[in-house]
Amino acid sequence: METQIIKGNIISAPEFGKIDITENGYLIAEDGKIKGIYQKLPQDYENLKIEDYGDALVMQSFADMHLHAPQYPMLGMGMDMPLLDWLNTYTFPTEACFKDTEFARKTYHRLAGELAAKGTTRVCIFSSIHREATLILMEELENAGITGYVGKVNMDRNGGENYQETTEESISETIKWLEACSFEHIKPMITPRFTPSCSNELMQELGRIANEKKVPIQSHLSENTGELDWVKELHPDCKQYWETYRKYGLWNDKTLMAHCVWSDERERKGIKNAGVWAVHCPSSNENLVSGYAPVRMMLNEGLNVVLGSDIAGGDHLSMFKNITAAIRASKARRIMDNWKTDFLTVEEAFYLGTSAAAPFFGENPGFAPGNMLHAIVVEDGTLPMVRPLSVHERFERCVYRREHGGVVAVYSEGKKIYSK
Ligand SMILES: [Zn+2]
Repeated sequence: METQIIKGNIISAPEFGKIDITENGYLIAEDGKIKGIYQKLPQDYENLKIEDYGDALVMQSFADMHLHAPQYPMLGMGMDMPLLDWLNTYTFPTEACFKDTEFARKTYHRLAGELAAKGTTRVCIFSSIHREATLILMEELENAGITGYVGKVNMDRNGGENYQETTEESISETIKWLEACSFEHIKPMITPRFTPSCSNELMQELGRIANEKKVPIQSHLSENTGELDWVKELHPDCKQYWETYRKYGLWNDKTLMAHCVWSDERERKGIKNAGVWAVHCPSSNENLVSGYAPVRMMLNEGLNVVLGSDIAGGDHLSMFKNITAAIRASKARRIMDNWKTDFLTVEEAFYLGTSAAAPFFGENPGFAPGNMLHAIVVEDGTLPMVRPLSVHERFERCVYRREHGGVVAVYSEGKKIYSK
């Protein structure tokens, strides 16, 4: 058995809104699985090697539950456009470049390395429509030690001239792709881009495949008001956007829906009743002026809420930055709601970026015994100090202003995948 003993200030979010801190403690994993957190090293482990990080903070690593890998090269571009124009002007032409497998290899190698270095060890990620490039993305993530799900995007309408499949192609390529997936830690996910991109026939077939092969599903929901009107035109038989997914069997407790900015009480009930996961993407929603999602209402109503960077609608891969974006969005929402909804605290937002996704991956929140070891080690010693800070204060400051290079080690699935 391989034992890992990590020493430092251990910080985790075992419950929504709660942070556990063990100062100068020991985080022990056996064969990659967490055994426990200890204030004093148990006797049995006394003669084993310790990875001692001194005064550094040892925290849970992040889960980025919604991002677009082929938009990585256009990060930070076209930010003055609304969603539908942005898709046609920047997104679709960029994604079309991933037909070139060499370009895909180079770009995805870099993306996977950056995710690891930023402490994102779990992802649910959109690829492009290309089968080969999607397999390359999966391989690069696997090699970098990232875990989670990747989806070959399906779109047989409204993609423009160079970025669209026929319905038959979309279905047969998806089946071929699923058959070619054989990675240990990166699994496939059915990924209709969003309702306007997929014909009814395609949606029907994707629902059938997802249910037959027991593959999870990811897509977009109620991001922007123009999109809502468009979906209504396309599906006059559906009262609301979410019902276009439910109609085709794409709506269950393994479904991730990015955004849900404009999900009203009825739609939120539809999300809750099916156990669908709402992926809050605050940076993207602000950049594309989509709106402020009613996150506090969702949480109060018992919905599953997780966080996504949604690059390149979002402009940061760093989940520290997306966590603080979620806090700021919730403060804007509080103002919009006439001070009736509470904003997210640092502890709550940290939970959304880490522990909230644990059940999606079959684990428990926090550094729970039995979870695989997913952790980051952060040094904050170079930041100025007016007085000695408590570990809790350092945690808060670290979330808000972690400087580039602060992450000194990252563990994923029990393995150290990055060290500075
Ligand atoms: Zn998206």
